[in-house]
Order: sequence, then C-alpha cells, then structure tokens
Amino acid sequence: MATLATLPDQPGNDQARTRAGIGRLRGFVTNLAELLDSTQDEREILESGAKLLSRLIAQDDWLPDAFAQAHPDRYQQYLLHCDSRERFSVVSFVWGPGQGTPIHDHRVWGLVGVLRGAEASERFVRQGDGTLRPTGTVDMLHAGAVEAVSPRVGDIHRVRNAVPDAPSISIHVYGANIGAVERATYDLDGRAKRFVSGYANDVVPNLWDRSNPS
Ligand code: FE
Repeated sequence: MATLATLPDQPGNDQARTRAGIGRLRGFVTNLAELLDSTQDEREILESGAKLLSRLIAQDDWLPDAFAQAHPDRYQQYLLHCDSRERFSVVSFVWGPGQGTPIHDHRVWGLVGVLRGAEASERFVRQGDGTLRPTGTVDMLHAGAVEAVSPRVGDIHRVRNAVPDAPSISIHVYGANIGAVERATYDLDGRAKRFVSGYANDVVPNLWDRSNPS
C-alpha cells in the first residue's frame, strides 16, 4: 500500500504520471498471461503478443525512470516482470550512445518493441560448417516498431543503438525467464560462448499497488 506521504499531492506531477502509467504494464502482463493460457502455438503467441506489445509501446508514459537509466559502459537489461511460472519475462533494454550486444541467440520466442529512440538489428544464420553468415538484413527499428526472434523465425542477431547521441530503449518479452536461460554469444567464425545474462536490477516495478486508480 502507498502511504499518504508517498501519494502525489498534485495530479499531473511526474510521480502521478508514473503511477498512473504502470497500469499499462500491468495490463500487458495480464493480457500476455491470458494469451499463454489460451495457446502454446508459437505462431499465434508471436502474432497476438506483437499486437499487445505494440499497444504497450504506443504510449511512452509508463516506464519508471529507474528502469530507463543508461550505464556509461554497457547496455542495461532491467527485469520489469517475470511470470510466476517463468512462462514469460518482460525486460527494458537501455542502450547508451554507441552501445550494442555481441552476436547472440535466445533459444525461446521473443518480441522486441522500441519505446524510445531507434535500434538496428543485424541478423545471422548458422551454416552447415558452423560459421555464421549475415543474412544481409539489418532491421532499423524506430519507436513503435516490433520485431520477433525465435529458433523458428531466426534467432541469431546483434543489436545496437541507432541513435548516435542519445539513449534508446526497447521493451522485450520472451517465452521464459530470459535472464536465467543458458544461451550463447558468437564470434564471426561461429564459435559459441556460454552466456546467462542475468539482469541489471534487483528490484522490479510494483505493478500491483491498485490504491491509485489507473
Ligand atoms: Fe536479442
């Protein structure tokens, strides 16, 4: 429960906006859980999940500032919510200027939606001899765009901030507790290195305080 001392005294201030906005993330989490209750078909999950994620990122008024902070040296991966059965997780990625990932895979389905700024996603395929080949596709994703990854639709890529002088933020949802999934980064020869990402934060947003109507 919020205490009186933490309640915003004037509607419209920053705290009020954040508190009202978190309801959007709560709604997304609830809708996604309902989707996963209704189907295990990946195609359907990606299609319907993309619509839910598009709706979430259409408004940039809900992500608390603590989960939008860039780090000077490396991109940040903040856990926003993990399903209690670890069927899915929601993460904010914050890319500072010049920051990006190594080439990596996911091993589960994932949806990436750009909330702020822009990012470039370069796709790779693994060839018969184990080496990686760029597909030639570099997706330029601007705010509002959603992209899917999975072993079925293409799972290996590298991502970088496409805005040279400001942070970019994307909201990701994956079909597992992604920070705990054992996966790999790759060099261009295709040599895989074991990788478990973890998360940058040890507290998550409070989606469940309903004392403020939102
Ligand atoms: Fe990725």
